Amino acid sequence: MQFDTREWQRLDASHHLHPFTDHQQLRQKGSRIITRGEGVYLIDSEGRRILDGMAGLWCVNMGYGREELIEAAERQMRELPYYNLFFQTAHPPAIELASLLAEVTPAGMNQAFFTGSGSECNDTVLRMVRHYWASQGKPERQVIISRHNAYHGSTVAGASLGGMSGMHEQGSLPIPGIVHIDQPYYFGEGQGMSPHEFGLERARQLEKKILELGPEKVAAFIGEPIQGAGGVIIPPESYWPEIQRICDHYGILLIADEVICGFGRTGSWFGCDTFGIRPDFMCLAKGITSGYVPLGAVMVSDRVARVVEKGGEFAHGFTYSGHPVACAVAIANIKLMQKESIVNRVHDRIAPYLQRRWSELSDLPIVGETRGKGMVAALEIVQNKQDKRRFPTAAKAGLTCREFCFNNGLVMRAVGDTMIISPPLVITETEVDNLVNLARRSLELTAEGLLG
Ligand SMILES: *Cc1c(COP(=O)(O)O)cnc(C)c1O
Repeated sequence: MQFDTREWQRLDASHHLHPFTDHQQLRQKGSRIITRGEGVYLIDSEGRRILDGMAGLWCVNMGYGREELIEAAERQMRELPYYNLFFQTAHPPAIELASLLAEVTPAGMNQAFFTGSGSECNDTVLRMVRHYWASQGKPERQVIISRHNAYHGSTVAGASLGGMSGMHEQGSLPIPGIVHIDQPYYFGEGQGMSPHEFGLERARQLEKKILELGPEKVAAFIGEPIQGAGGVIIPPESYWPEIQRICDHYGILLIADEVICGFGRTGSWFGCDTFGIRPDFMCLAKGITSGYVPLGAVMVSDRVARVVEKGGEFAHGFTYSGHPVACAVAIANIKLMQKESIVNRVHDRIAPYLQRRWSELSDLPIVGETRGKGMVAALEIVQNKQDKRRFPTAAKAGLTCREFCFNNGLVMRAVGDTMIISPPLVITETEVDNLVNLARRSLELTAEGLLG
């Protein structure tokens, strides 16, 4: 089909319901039609090049157009395009990927359960955690503690584990047995405390909640090492060690949702490596295939796997659990990461460069803070730099900035008035310069628009 932009937009408006979208707004404007990707750039239906500062949705870590991934998919489609892993069968791509994941994840994580997405990982974890406790004669250990403003996906369990109030309002969520404590968002909620004190205070809310519910009722705690969709919330250094201590003390399982942080994003292979977390479960998706095909994996620690294996049949699984094409692409992706030493490159070179250049944006009058870790970063748009006062909500400062970015050829995302980036890990220094210059220009236009 050879359509022009208007025709694509017309058909899109007539037949397509988009995720997380206000359709009335969209129909008035018309969708942006992305037709191609090359390295860190997108090309739209008007032929414009846009620097993808979000790596798709935090996933295209190795960039667009990688032959190694394309060839792996093609080869596997010819060999065995589909077979399932139910009924005592397996196939080489699933087996090879499971053992490769055991190699790259932290010591003691040696079993993989495959899913089709990050949301499905969290649904799987919820059921596996409860199955774990039930099979040890403790079925009353049901409650999973999460955080407000966490993102764990969009399925019923994923949205329930997540702490997005707008999502809870639609569909009577959360489901029973999930409770939320406050997030470690220092810029937004840490007034009057040092980062260290604030990190401890937020972590100790976990202990308070456990004692309030009764430790014998609590099954697990779940957290993203760095909250992504919530606005790149990087906890103070005191936070994770205290969470770990509390989980260990009360014997509560620790679930690290690594869907964004995994595969090099934070400057180590996993967010758990960066923050010294010793999890019982890790949820992996997004960067596992660099987004080329859908795939998720729940990594299960040895101590949990031993119990789950003895607990009889775990009545759970998906038609596409461990899809051979997805596994083949994930294997090729991880091998490419290893071949190009991408994690070392991020850690030693490109992340320090990105963070240095990004922090220069803090000289702008509407930037109240810049922060970042590895290859994620955020900045806070404020009306007043001194007291960190926000613009009125009606000013839509974040969305205004996002529009300027798009029009200037940069994808930068807005979470309220927090602007966030998560570029492909393969971005070069020159491309980082380009990204930061485009962001600066867009912020200046935003300031002119809002301050007059
Ligand atoms: C994106 C995301 C998910 C959900 O993954 P899907 O593949 O969209 O279902 C879960 N957890 C985190 C931390 C995410 O960023």
